[in-house]
Amino acid sequence: MTFDYDLFVIGGGSGGVRAARVAAATGAKVALAEEFRMGGTCVIRGCVPKKLMVFASGYAEMCDDAQAYGWDVTCGAFDWPKFRTQLHKELDRLEGIYRKLLSNSDVEIFDARASLKDAHTVTLSTGQDITAKHILIATGGRPVLPDIPGAELGITSNDIFLLDELPKSILIVGGGYIASEFAGILNGLGVKVTQFYRGAQILRGFDDEARGLVAEGMRDKGVNLHLGTNIVEMRAPTDQDLTGEGMSAPIEQGKPTSVSSGKPVKGIWVKATNGNEAIYDQVMFATGRAPNTEDMGLGDIGVETGRRGQIIVDDYSQTTVPSIYAIGDVTDRVQLTPVAIREAMAFVQTVFKGNPTKNDYEMIPSAVFTQPELGTIGMTEEEARDIEPVEIYCTSFKPMNHAFAGRSDRVMMKLVVSRETRKVMGCHIVADHAGEMIQLVGIAVKMGASKEDFDRTVAVHPTMAEELVTMKDPVRSA
Ligand code: NDP
Repeated sequence: MTFDYDLFVIGGGSGGVRAARVAAATGAKVALAEEFRMGGTCVIRGCVPKKLMVFASGYAEMCDDAQAYGWDVTCGAFDWPKFRTQLHKELDRLEGIYRKLLSNSDVEIFDARASLKDAHTVTLSTGQDITAKHILIATGGRPVLPDIPGAELGITSNDIFLLDELPKSILIVGGGYIASEFAGILNGLGVKVTQFYRGAQILRGFDDEARGLVAEGMRDKGVNLHLGTNIVEMRAPTDQDLTGEGMSAPIEQGKPTSVSSGKPVKGIWVKATNGNEAIYDQVMFATGRAPNTEDMGLGDIGVETGRRGQIIVDDYSQTTVPSIYAIGDVTDRVQLTPVAIREAMAFVQTVFKGNPTKNDYEMIPSAVFTQPELGTIGMTEEEARDIEPVEIYCTSFKPMNHAFAGRSDRVMMKLVVSRETRKVMGCHIVADHAGEMIQLVGIAVKMGASKEDFDRTVAVHPTMAEELVTMKDPVRSA
């Protein structure tokens, strides 16, 4: 049987683009369909614009520090429209690069939505049917709104980069990566930020001490963090709400309508589980993401999906239909761009290079770009001590640059060490540039370095990271 293509990729995000390019480099005939913008979540409405906003949000504090270091500077107001214009120019540039990479690799691009007709055929939204020997689904995910009355009045991380103006106040709901990162970003940009997390501490799954320090740091910087708290209901404010005492003054957003007068009003009225009622200019939900598998015809052709809609795959990213593979967030394994890229590479090895390759999910370093930043690899103290006896090496201190500037921010460096093998089972860093640090220390940890290997490494002085190789005694054994 002959096919139009050797590979048809659905989705032009990090995983899909990488798989298409690398498969094409093997001589395969490849096409890719993307319904929105090339680059996917990471480039268009995720990691990249978020990180640029993290940078933007740090300047107010840097101005204060500069004054403490003797500079005669004052930080004026943040100009959101100016930043947003520059941001979107940069995203356009990056999207252009992604397109060029594909066309330079001889990958044919279809700017259309694709669904599955059978095991070897996709149907485009243009009506065209295309056949392929292999189909790769890399359609990613999208933010979901919780089942709360009035939730549709809120925004998600998709909307934040497109706002006409920054709100004066925002309620962010959730305690994961996205909620906690945006709480810091918007706070740094001068927005009055309240964050609700339904659990006992934000960043569930990360090391407890690290979570505690991040939460404390966020509060110190001004985020009004409420734990064990959620929204009961939200709605457009009534005229009475707007004149009520204790309410924050809302600004024009133009969307909600007063329930009592029917006139357009400003802000969103929120009732919380702790009994508080308040009006926020915006409410942002960062309450998790769902895989993009709807209306693709997956069930009709036998591609199995899980309870959350994620595509079920084996260790080689193969679905229950042998000619169809899936990688990245749509499979809900580890929702990180570099993981999707590695799944893409393993897929190409397996299918186009005759070298069946499983992706390695052990010891994945990652960073949460909260303020303060968190870098992590391996097991948390809590996970490790459930498995075997461990020693904990941990230090928390005021770094010299902060101490000089009179800031109270503290840094934390922590190693979780196996008492039996002496291997470093986990490393957790809360500090400026923790993401950069964990990338490097992650190599040693991934290689199986022992605590004594760390100790043998000469400190780089004066740095924050030198503490990782100078911690002499465990703070506790567990
Ligand atoms: P997460 O799953 O990390 O967090 C979702 C949060 O929302 C949790 O705190 C969860 O609480 C809470 N939540 C879920 N449902 C409700 C509800 N009905 N009401 C109130 N709260 C609710 O998702 P994110 O959207 O933050 O991020 C998605 C993924 O994207 C992450 O897992 C990560 O892999 C990736 N990402 C990575 C980044 C990075 O590498 N720096 C940055 C951004 C995203 P609970 O804990 O109780 O379940």
